[in-house]
Amino acid sequence: MTTPGFIALSSAVARTKDQIYRTHCAATAGVPPVAVRASMRCVRCSGLLTYTVSAIDGRTTGRCSSAGCLNWALSA
Ligand SMILES: [Zn+2]
Repeated sequence: MTTPGFIALSSAVARTKDQIYRTHCAATAGVPPVAVRASMRCVRCSGLLTYTVSAIDGRTTGRCSSAGCLNWALSA
């Protein structure tokens, strides 16, 4: 599915992952020293986005508090 809305959502997820990476992983070769569970302002709607980062492989999950906004899991 490649509707414009889907693309916008994907790039917002990519931006968010990039921000999380720079905050928690860049200094430690891509994996944080301990598992991260935190929240930040959503780049798309400015709502509350809760995310996690695995201390094993650096994978992230994230979910915005707004319905239909950013929500991803286990896609690195
Ligand atoms: Zn949002």
